[in-house]
Amino acid sequence: MKDKFGRDIYYLRISVTDRCNLRCIYCMPENGVKFIPHKEILRFEEIIEIVKASTTIGISSVRLTGGEPLLRKGTVELIRMLKDIKGINRVTMTTNGTLLSKYAKELKSAGITSINVSLDTLMPDKFRKITRNGDINDVIEGIKKAVGEGITTKLNVVLQKENLDEAADLIRFSKEMGTTIRFIEYMPLDSCIVLSEDPFVSAKELIRIIEETFGDIAETNYTMGDGPAKYIHIKSLDTEVGIIASISEPFCSRCNRIRLTSDGIIKPCLASNIGYDIKSVLRAKHGEKDIVNTIVNAIEAKPLMHHMNSKKQEIHMNKIGG
Ligand code: SAM
Ligand code: SF4
Repeated sequence: MKDKFGRDIYYLRISVTDRCNLRCIYCMPENGVKFIPHKEILRFEEIIEIVKASTTIGISSVRLTGGEPLLRKGTVELIRMLKDIKGINRVTMTTNGTLLSKYAKELKSAGITSINVSLDTLMPDKFRKITRNGDINDVIEGIKKAVGEGITTKLNVVLQKENLDEAADLIRFSKEMGTTIRFIEYMPLDSCIVLSEDPFVSAKELIRIIEETFGDIAETNYTMGDGPAKYIHIKSLDTEVGIIASISEPFCSRCNRIRLTSDGIIKPCLASNIGYDIKSVLRAKHGEKDIVNTIVNAIEAKPLMHHMNSKKQEIHMNKIGG
């Protein structure tokens, strides 16, 4: 359905868990995270009920995220169930890739449309530092397995001062792997540690470095999936690079999404405090009409723009699903 600013909202991002096996410095604190109690987490049947209701107002694409979606038992089965819902054309997932080599085959057979794998560096030590002890080999194995299974795979790189010098290598790596790469501007969050230095690098700076390294680049109308990336074409490499400039060039006018948190809150916008408690509606067994109304209310409450800037935001990315 269209929101009050005329944007077509057809994409639902579902956080299936707030738990994660990594602790990326820009996303979660190292210790003391208070996780949502299990009884508050939506059961798979409840997620299915919400998605079925959402198709009646035009939701056609869903993405599983988290936390780490592959940590939740049965996520592959959930994908299978989502694929079976009439009106749902695309089921995708964003993952840190650490468990991907184990699940790639099953994901393919469950019919997943595509996956996004987060990878900020190619250096094992830097990876360990950014993720607070992750093993990069697990992720690289996972990417190879996913591509080997024929799953359309994108790489998500959070652009930081720490990895700007690797941008060219990451682009070459992605080309070699047969994936599509997208750089995402870092968003300052309240939930992560106080970083000693502001990690923010603008998309403009990245483009300058890409041009310096590879020569001729051109803007393109290339699109892929439902994401907000704008793509540039690197002529010498004959490849596209996606750029998501959430902070320096907000894409709110093109926003197409709402979010469902793992504890059953519909969020109109990542950066807004507003949420609609759809779990209570569901558990009160009022029926599909009330579930649909809750989603409609959330879509109607979508703000025109986010107001994220360099000030820290009170966003818990692992809960809402980045
Ligand atoms: N665990 C999965 C993963 O890392 O891909 C899925 C959840 S994670 C919250 C989703 C995406 O949000 C990842 O691509 C991650 O890099 C991104 N993200 C997390 N914190 C961020 C931040 N402060 N700024 C920009 N992107 C962020
Ligand atoms: Fe976990 Fe993803 Fe957040 Fe990293 S970005 S801590 S992998 S949820």
